[in-house]
Amino acid sequence: MLTAGGMTLFSACGTVGSESGTAKNTATAPESNPAPASSPASSSAAPTPQPAGTPTPAAPSTAPSAKPSGKTPAEPEYYVHGGPMELALTLDDGPSPVYTPQVLAILRRHGVTATFFLIGANVEKFPDIVRQIVDDGHHLGNHTWSHPDLGTLSAGQTRDEMERTSDIIARSGRGQRPTLFRAPGGFFTHASMALCGELGLRPVSWSVDPRDWSRPGTQKIVDEVLGHARAGSIILDHDGSLLKGTAPVPGSPEDRSQTVAALDTYLPRLIGDGYRFTALDPAA
Ligand SMILES: [Zn+2]
Repeated sequence: MLTAGGMTLFSACGTVGSESGTAKNTATAPESNPAPASSPASSSAAPTPQPAGTPTPAAPSTAPSAKPSGKTPAEPEYYVHGGPMELALTLDDGPSPVYTPQVLAILRRHGVTATFFLIGANVEKFPDIVRQIVDDGHHLGNHTWSHPDLGTLSAGQTRDEMERTSDIIARSGRGQRPTLFRAPGGFFTHASMALCGELGLRPVSWSVDPRDWSRPGTQKIVDEVLGHARAGSIILDHDGSLLKGTAPVPGSPEDRSQTVAALDTYLPRLIGDGYRFTALDPAA
């Protein structure tokens, strides 16, 4: 387990803030000061997670409980436990008024169902986009209200971030209350894990991270996903960012056009290879 600033963290995969472009450059917040996707910041992180570059023959046998139990989960989920050719696509930091509709059109074209981990502050601005996501049959997860580094928050502040977001998603998303939670950067603190148990949220991380938020180039995103995706993978991509204004600025860290183009390339390739995309939410 990774200990940082007195907080015990459950994941070192990913990068706090980077997803939203609100990066905080601290050594323990790899989403803003990212560790390479293939090397988590700590090898002593929770036992289940595998770095994105580590081959795994199949999903682990320790399948998570399908239903929230009210107990504090032992660790986040890094894999989806479906059939032999099933994996999951997750999209973080939306909704975006520009990129989410483009992503939805691509998912529709390729017949892919995904899970969108939404930022509450964005949901407040763009509830109509949330309804489009739901109407297309996708699933909604809680990704906090303002995408903070949870390690910097009190338990009360963490509760506020999580509860407000579940509430507004339920109000905006045709009553669909999230049952999934993803901490910004994948940093699940003890407080957030305890709240997951209390609020009936399953903590979900990821196992394939092409770092698309850093805009490394469409081909790089494609190569990373195709190079690491396998049965059980949870793929992380970003359709949005924590928007300060009313629309993302092209060419800025808010620009997700590379992600959009990459999805349109790698999804048909994975489908052609025989993979199927499955929901993370067993109730869905
Ligand atoms: Zn994020």
